[in-house]
Amino acid sequence: MTVMSHLFYQSRQPRPTLDYGKGIYLYDTDGKRYIDGSSGAMVSNIGHSNPRVLDAMKAQMDKATFGYRLHFQTEPSERLAAKTAALMPKGLDRVFFVSGGSEAVESAIKMARQYALTQGQDSRWKVISRHPSYHGSTLGALALTGYDPLTKPFAPMMREMPKIAAPTCYLDTDNLDDDQRGLKYAEMLREEIIAQGPESVLAFIMEPVGGASTGALVAPDSYYARIREICDEFGILLIYDEVMTGAGRTGKFIAAEHWGITPDIIALSKGFAAGYAPLGAMVARGDMVEAVLDAGGFLHGYTYAGNPLACAAGCAVLDEIASQDLVGNSAAMGDLLKARLTGLMDRFPFIGDVRGLGLLLAFELVSDRKTMAPLPKELNAYNRLVDLAYERGLIIYSRRTRGGLEGDHFLVAPPLIVTEAQIDEIMATLTDSLEAMAREMNL
Ligand code: PLP
Repeated sequence: MTVMSHLFYQSRQPRPTLDYGKGIYLYDTDGKRYIDGSSGAMVSNIGHSNPRVLDAMKAQMDKATFGYRLHFQTEPSERLAAKTAALMPKGLDRVFFVSGGSEAVESAIKMARQYALTQGQDSRWKVISRHPSYHGSTLGALALTGYDPLTKPFAPMMREMPKIAAPTCYLDTDNLDDDQRGLKYAEMLREEIIAQGPESVLAFIMEPVGGASTGALVAPDSYYARIREICDEFGILLIYDEVMTGAGRTGKFIAAEHWGITPDIIALSKGFAAGYAPLGAMVARGDMVEAVLDAGGFLHGYTYAGNPLACAAGCAVLDEIASQDLVGNSAAMGDLLKARLTGLMDRFPFIGDVRGLGLLLAFELVSDRKTMAPLPKELNAYNRLVDLAYERGLIIYSRRTRGGLEGDHFLVAPPLIVTEAQIDEIMATLTDSLEAMAREMNL
């Protein structure tokens, strides 16, 4: 029987009805328990039903849930801006709140453009990004996104932006060492800037650790420093899309800290309010914001932006991350989980790569580990393994994408509160699911 509902999202596929969540677990209305092994879409960083956050939200609800930002400042939004700025690299001290990741990215590119105008750089408007990548679903963010199935249908409706290859070094067969590989991919930015005409290029945007698009792709260290140098050489703004990587997900508060990079603008969302409220932020250099305000103000905004309820939730989330040292736990449990996932390669020859940082981890399936040839598309492994795990009460997140080729990768990214015993539980269910898939597909 077709399930009819007024509500619709991507497909007609019905899903169990969520009842409640507690810690790293979610429960449906039939009482089945699921380990939230992907924190939803890498969102629920502090786990579900955190009492500190719920109390802070309830207290704020009793006072005010909305005050329009052009009429009032609110105490939670001021407090959250200060807390956020304190966690950013020096100089990035101005915060613009939004309600999600796409809005944070839209805000970042508009801030970049308006700042360029204040510098008399009217010719600069192109934002170079990477392929594959994901920066959001609104048309501006989609134009930066390198994922053809999502972008192609809308191509005539948006101004597509130039792309360079994401640093998929794990697929490279050349004899370069890591350092050289990082530089090789970074030079692609330099070449693209020159090809486009440096005076037309406004910014470069990248996910410091790839998310769903590349499956936790981490570049060699040399890449990050060289990208910053190249942007500086041509006066191009560097935007880090930390929507997924921010708020401790990779074992630092923001991933940029791993390489000591100071971007010009950072986009945050997801773990920033950890699923307790729709919230994101665009954090920019103070001098850029001052220039834009001097020139008449930022020509961009969202009605719900900076509402006190979402900001109260955000404050409590940041307090919880600090008081429980969840950034430290993300690093420690991330190392442990990555070692355990790598261990699966001994048992399952079809796991070709395990990668990631902190608790943003992924493994990729291949038909041949030497050539890294992907599994045949018809096997539909990226859906099947997710379903097998789901049946067994484990949620993981998958995509089929990989540069020009196609590959099945799976993100394992539990809440940052995860314990060693819970990692054992995740691994037992995942192993069982992989075994079931191997049997089914004769792998
Ligand atoms: N940027 C990155 C890196 C993301 O991973 C996402 C979402 O997955 C977005 C932007 C878009 O965020 P949202 O879905 O909250 O609009």
